[in-house]
Amino acid sequence: MGFKHQVRWFRISDQDARIVIVGAGMAGLTAAAYLSRAKYDVLLIEKNKEIGGLVNSFQRDGFVFDTGAKSIENSGIIRPFLDDLGIELELLQSPVSVGIEKDVINVISEDSLNDYKNLLEKLYPEYIEDVYKIISFIQKIMKVTAVLYGIDNPIFKDLKKDKAFLFKKLLPWLGKFLLAVRRTNRLNEPVEEFLEQMSTYKPLTDIVDQHFFKNTPTFFAMGYFYVFLDYFYPKGGTGELPKAIYQKIIEWGGETKTETEISKIIPSKKIVIDLNGNNYPYDYLIWGADLKTLYNKISMENLDEKISRKINEQKEKFLSYRGGDSVFTLFLGLDEPLEKFGAISNGHFFYTPSKKGLGEIHRSELKSLIDNFENTPKEEILQWLDKFCELNTYEISIPALRDPSLVPKGKTGLIVSMLFEYDLFKRVKEASWYEEFKTEVENRILETLTNSIYPDIKDKILFRILLTPITILDRVGSSEGAITGWSYEKPVPVVNSLLKIYKSVVTPIPNVWQAGQWVYSPSGIPIAILTGLIAAQKIMKKKF
Ligand SMILES: Cc1cc2nc3c(=O)[nH]c(=O)nc-3n(C[C@H](O)[C@H](O)[C@H](O)COP(=O)(O)OP(=O)(O)OC[C@H]3O[C@@H](n4cnc5c(N)ncnc54)[C@H](O)[C@@H]3O)c2cc1C
Repeated sequence: MGFKHQVRWFRISDQDARIVIVGAGMAGLTAAAYLSRAKYDVLLIEKNKEIGGLVNSFQRDGFVFDTGAKSIENSGIIRPFLDDLGIELELLQSPVSVGIEKDVINVISEDSLNDYKNLLEKLYPEYIEDVYKIISFIQKIMKVTAVLYGIDNPIFKDLKKDKAFLFKKLLPWLGKFLLAVRRTNRLNEPVEEFLEQMSTYKPLTDIVDQHFFKNTPTFFAMGYFYVFLDYFYPKGGTGELPKAIYQKIIEWGGETKTETEISKIIPSKKIVIDLNGNNYPYDYLIWGADLKTLYNKISMENLDEKISRKINEQKEKFLSYRGGDSVFTLFLGLDEPLEKFGAISNGHFFYTPSKKGLGEIHRSELKSLIDNFENTPKEEILQWLDKFCELNTYEISIPALRDPSLVPKGKTGLIVSMLFEYDLFKRVKEASWYEEFKTEVENRILETLTNSIYPDIKDKILFRILLTPITILDRVGSSEGAITGWSYEKPVPVVNSLLKIYKSVVTPIPNVWQAGQWVYSPSGIPIAILTGLIAAQKIMKKKF
């Protein structure tokens, strides 16, 4: 610890305040970047060796793979954020394709919605009226989403200096924005229930919604056709984004400590303690990791009774909620040229091998399997798995179709993922057949893809790597292996209205702010960045 930290009682300005940030995911990195740029005394602590949290890329035998998001959506946030921090990152286009059975459409403009309509009409000719209803609704929501993400988020702008932005963009947009927020707030009901009002034919509504998290708010899910057009891919992999922010933190004098897991927070002493018993004093703490962990590790010693009560209330609330859906991911190194895959789809591909839809397989059937796990024979679980893998929707990413330097010449790296319930993996692990189960899932995915879109891949595999909901929990400490914060299955326990986002970082714990995917819902990378910045701003005492 440097001299500066030992003489904190000589504080001459807020810039001397010691800020500890726990978690070097997108939220923690963002907060650390802004605070170190403003010359605060920053220490960013991360449990893993690598930074980025859920945004991460890794290399194997010359193949680069992304473990988290397959592309990054701008949402009016990422590009202005990078500009604001002076980060020069080459951003490549990342067009999406959507495929069902043998048909694949490329999403290249808003008009591609028409191709999607034609595809659904072809697959479900008896339900053309229902298809029209759904498509015309998606069209409306695309317009609303375009307003929400339509201009650079003003939080990254200096409105006193940038008058052109203020008068030509922000003010004319504000009215439309408020209307859009009102509309989205009214469309918070689960997308499955909303679509049921448009069609009673389950396979059709399943095909439209089964790759979203369970109970995803309607506006969020139905806005995705717009989001598909808003995606980009950082050259070198998605992991280049956190790396670039990290470089800036170092450049601005921020201190970082990796491979350090915080296991206790003592607010009355203003210290956090790591697993090895090392203490890190703070004046302000930003918690950028899982919120259940924060409340499980907090010590109430010597805290005012009123504060302790508030913290306990918050703790009870969070601990009674679940993290959202998790994923199973298969990374494949293939001895096949890129062109072969490029002829089938773009590099980011949502593919459903069957038009039948998952029906109750991932809902009541799965729930009953988990609830009765001990009494269910293995064969029955594997039969369920057969149907789950055959009828699911896969998110497939081919990084090198965005950036050809990410594979050895003549080869292709494929990332295949699908939403997967953490609780099933947990039960299987407790029953000691985790390794076997992983292979069963992997084999079924390969079988399904071989029987549908990629007939030859099984014979071309150079290597395979797996990532399960358990891996996600173990690596970044995300409750229930969640990939974007709280489950939507109950009303979320945090702020869920854009107009209240500034409140999302507030905690009942003195001098502690929170940021990241657990503090606002629905969330993801843009929200992690936004809340990281807001938490930093609270400390910088900006007036709002
Ligand atoms: C497969 C997948 C696909 C996704 N797709 C998208 C997408 O398309 N669009 C989108 O916007 N988002 C997507 N996301 C979600 C997005 O990546 C996350 O919401 C976002 O990155 C969360 O950032 P965060 O900083 O809040 O949390 P995290 O990334 O979880 O960072 C928290 C950090 O804290 C560290 N940590 C935890 N506990 C401790 C401790 N006790 N001490 C020290 N450090 C600790 C962790 O190791 C981690 O580095 C996806 C995620 C995954 C996994």
